[in-house]
Amino acid sequence: MSARILDGTKIANDIRGEVAAEVKTMANAGVRPGLAVVLAGHNPASEIYVRGKVKACQEVGIYSEQHTPPDTSTTAELIALVEGLNRREEIDGILVQLPLPAQVDSKRVLMAVDPAKDVDGFHPVNVGLLSTQRPGLVPCTPAGVMEILRRSQIPIAGREAVVVGRSDIVGKPAAMLLLNGNATVTVCHSKTHDLPGVCRRADILVAAIGRAGMITHDFVKPGATVIDVGMNKVTDAAAFARLFGRGLPKNARREEIFRTKGSTLVGDVHPEVAELAGALTPVPGGVGPLTIAMLMYNTVKAARMRRGSRVPELLRS
Ligand code: NAP
Repeated sequence: MSARILDGTKIANDIRGEVAAEVKTMANAGVRPGLAVVLAGHNPASEIYVRGKVKACQEVGIYSEQHTPPDTSTTAELIALVEGLNRREEIDGILVQLPLPAQVDSKRVLMAVDPAKDVDGFHPVNVGLLSTQRPGLVPCTPAGVMEILRRSQIPIAGREAVVVGRSDIVGKPAAMLLLNGNATVTVCHSKTHDLPGVCRRADILVAAIGRAGMITHDFVKPGATVIDVGMNKVTDAAAFARLFGRGLPKNARREEIFRTKGSTLVGDVHPEVAELAGALTPVPGGVGPLTIAMLMYNTVKAARMRRGSRVPELLRS
């Protein structure tokens, strides 16, 4: 039997629609949420991500502005920029696009962001609020994972959840959100013994590793829900063939794109898992689109919370 494919693009579009409606309501009350993005130096991938974020703001009616300090910026200069944004009333969210130039102390810059405007949810104050189940700003990608589960009616309470990956931006907050949702949570990493065996306990398996197709059949309990956070660019033809075979009709479109572009985006979950899992997020089109949708939501949430007003019910995570 083939897994139910959880359509992240549709869920993200639904959320964006709900955020746009909320922005309209706020505009009627004279408030326009605002997001400032700091993009230091030149990094082609970061430039693409930031363009996507700014475009999403325009689509939902959020005010946005970009700050593009040069490659040579110092830690002190970036902290001064962030502190200026902290002081501006019309800016509700501040996003510092990572990675910052090598000479900059990224942690100090992120710590300078006012926790009330920390729409990435990376500040230790927001990490603490999440772990103590108090209202705060939750990192976008894990919040998106929870929205996929919730909107796909996948039960969480009482389930065994296994998260592979313990990064501050994905693995740890995903584990905390699942725990807050009353799952029994195990967090795995590169030192975990018998990783396939631990993963096979999961009713909900979240892969946030950064290794193309690492989660194979052997890691998955039949019928489990598998959430693939991984985003890996595969450029090697042999690696492509290992993941997708050659000349299979179901992979024809991907093969065609690989031939013309020379690369394809692959998750941490091997495509063969679709035959065993109960539900699965695809890559692309799974968790990825949720990240920007949740950034839009966090900006509205920050605008509401900063004014001491009701946070929209729609997506409380
Ligand atoms: P990261 O900081 O590199 O963390 C990777 C985690 O995976 C680490 O905890 C590491 O363990 C663990 N790991 C690595 N190799 C392993 C192995 N062989 N067995 C078990 N665990 C292993 O990565 P990240 O920032 O969390 O991102 C993870 C993936 O999600 C990447 O593909 C990234 O591109 C993707 N991502 C997607 C989105 C999105 O919008 N969809 C957003 C963010 C990230 P140790 O801690 O022991 O080293």
